[in-house]
Amino acid sequence: MLEQIQTDIWVRFQKMRGHECYYVCADDTTAPHHAGGGKTGHHPEQLVDSVRELHLADSQGFLIGHDNYYSTNSPENKALAEQVYLALKADDKIACRTIEQLFDPEKQMFLPDRFVKGECPKCSAKDQYGDNCEVCGATYNHRLKTRRRGGPC
Ligand SMILES: [Zn+2]
Repeated sequence: MLEQIQTDIWVRFQKMRGHECYYVCADDTTAPHHAGGGKTGHHPEQLVDSVRELHLADSQGFLIGHDNYYSTNSPENKALAEQVYLALKADDKIACRTIEQLFDPEKQMFLPDRFVKGECPKCSAKDQYGDNCEVCGATYNHRLKTRRRGGPC
């Protein structure tokens, strides 16, 4: 909700200045709590569909002024993302590199940092996310069960 309120303020400011500005927002089927179906085992699209009306009601309760609210998995979003990617690639503005990312061998999927919790290697705080420690502020690279993941270039 914080991100939506901040964006709503910025969009209203731009519109008040007379600028053409559209507030486009979506439920994200790739968000950590949706990827892989979360704890429910549902497909990410089913999970997003099941919470869509609740999210819209929350947004309307805070008077958020979306011009469009949809899903990151929509055909329109796919077409627009491909259009942007291909334009950037044609202009040689896409860099390709191999990264290391945590991998779950049982589910056969790469894991978002927020899927992984454990002990901070710096301060030993328990129950910290895979990318940073909320106790000491450390950020770290992964050293456990990573696989190399190449880009689509
Ligand atoms: Zn720490």
